[in-house]
Amino acid sequence: MNFAAKLIRWQQLHGRHNLPWQNTRDPYAVWLSEIMLQQTQVATVVPYYLRFLQCYPDIDSLALAPLDEVLALWSGLGYYARGRNLHQAAQMIVSQHGGEFPRDVAAIQQLPGIGRSTAAAIAVFAYGEHCAILDGNVKRVFARCFGIDGYPGEKNTETLLWHKAEQLLPKKETKGEIETYTQALMDLGATVCTRSKPQCTACPLQTDCIAFKERRVDQLPTPKPRKPLPQKETVLLLLLQHGEILLEKRPPTGIWGGLWCLPEMPLAENAAAYCMRQFGLKVQPLPELPPLDHSFTHFKLRIHPRPLQVVAHTPAARQNGAIWLAFEDALGAAIPTPVRRLLLPLNNNKNVK
Ligand code: SF4
Repeated sequence: MNFAAKLIRWQQLHGRHNLPWQNTRDPYAVWLSEIMLQQTQVATVVPYYLRFLQCYPDIDSLALAPLDEVLALWSGLGYYARGRNLHQAAQMIVSQHGGEFPRDVAAIQQLPGIGRSTAAAIAVFAYGEHCAILDGNVKRVFARCFGIDGYPGEKNTETLLWHKAEQLLPKKETKGEIETYTQALMDLGATVCTRSKPQCTACPLQTDCIAFKERRVDQLPTPKPRKPLPQKETVLLLLLQHGEILLEKRPPTGIWGGLWCLPEMPLAENAAAYCMRQFGLKVQPLPELPPLDHSFTHFKLRIHPRPLQVVAHTPAARQNGAIWLAFEDALGAAIPTPVRRLLLPLNNNKNVK
């Protein structure tokens, strides 16, 4: 049996047959189900789908409905752009297609919110057209079964997967096969070849599956490449006097929100001028310390520590929102990890204090 035949047979025996949007040729109902199923699980979609069809049983009723009402009905399903696009597309079908859902897959794809795979699925289930689908589940099945490396969202890999999807379609001759085959791909991806813990022992493709044979199921599809994190740089001032160090309270939001921290200064600033302007403190530089690298979720931070000895307070010296603390007390305060890493060696260095 070839790929399509195996899947068709599996779908007939083990696939899903009683979902509310199956066994209908109504393009409106098929379209609604395909849009709702994007990014949403079947179990969540079912009650929304039934309620939606009850309120708006056809394209005309949806096109005439106020958008606020449509979105209220969509409420809780998430990704509200889907609801807005659905409403706009219904109005376009009325104004541009005389209220008839277009049959041609290229025309379907012109409607808002409908991509190539969704247009193909609608054309298959509503009209029995011979079109290939390639949603996220299908990409996973193909990548594993044919050992296709590369992140599926990347252009070249996606082109390869589309080519595969076209190649594997069942022959046109047998009526009804394209619908069963398309449903089989969807069912296999959703219930057997799942993202985690796929049920390979229950899979009709197991004997030919490259990922299974090569024990690479957990490596395919190739995950999205992680972008290198942007690097930022900043200066933290170590202002020292009489064995104490100046700490500032960070604003409640942003990095280190609400923690006590060393005063932060932009990289381009002159430290002496900055200290005079900000705190009314006259300072002298102490021996430089090496930079310290710290990683956040979205960026890396290179910290340039500037140890400075306070030699005089001007009459206008002010430390609003800042406190002088002994090293031991500073280390016991709510301070971020990099500040702790900077203070620890200084605490042990009697010369600095
Ligand atoms: Fe997916 Fe496993 Fe089937 Fe391969 S054998 S297609 S990895 S479920």
